[in-house]
Amino acid sequence: MTKIKVIALDLEGTLISNAMSQFPRPGLYAFLEACRGRVERVVMFTTVKESVFRPIADLLVAEGHAPSWFRDIEFVTWEGATKNLDWIPGVQPEEALLVDDFEIYVHPGQEAQWLRAPFFDWPYPDDDTGLGIVLEMILNCTERRPGSTCGVE
Ligand SMILES: [Mg+2]
Repeated sequence: MTKIKVIALDLEGTLISNAMSQFPRPGLYAFLEACRGRVERVVMFTTVKESVFRPIADLLVAEGHAPSWFRDIEFVTWEGATKNLDWIPGVQPEEALLVDDFEIYVHPGQEAQWLRAPFFDWPYPDDDTGLGIVLEMILNCTERRPGSTCGVE
């Protein structure tokens, strides 16, 4: 398996409810810290504009839902219909994982790099465990575990 160097995170439906209501997903702080502990780079790969994202990140940090480094997280600039991992500077697509709740954004040919985040959906329950499920997948992709497979299905 190619060594994973980057985790690319979707925002809406994955880390928070959406850019309007901005409810943090349960376990967000610990999830972000765990990502950062596993790979060299954690980046945002979202349809939300950076100018909209930064204030959301500021608020999440201010309210204690995200670690302080999340304010300055690398933000991937991209265009097109899918989240082509080639847009992440300095790495090959095989060296990146895309955490996203929405299959339609997975770039053709990069399905193996996709970790399907369970959709964080209304009414945004306090006992949502989606980020824990994603973290298990990340651990399987970033360390060798007997019998483990990267990704879902
Ligand atoms: Mg999403």
